[in-house]
Amino acid sequence: MTFTIMCPYCRFEHAVQHPGGYLPIYADCPNCGNRFVVEPERHGVTTYTLEDAPCCSDPECREIEMGASDND
Ligand SMILES: [Zn+2]
Repeated sequence: MTFTIMCPYCRFEHAVQHPGGYLPIYADCPNCGNRFVVEPERHGVTTYTLEDAPCCSDPECREIEMGASDND
């Protein structure tokens, strides 16, 4: 599915593709080039800068915490 999100760094609004469900993913802003976290929620979507993302919302941090990925 596609979300329209706003870059947490430069506020540039653009669309990102998400595979579905509530897993957080990384997105790269086409305007400023920064990477950030996009996490779908029940009522929309939340974005975090990498500095602000809690571990449970950081795709890499989740992988480390959960050990082997079961999403592949
Ligand atoms: Zn940006």
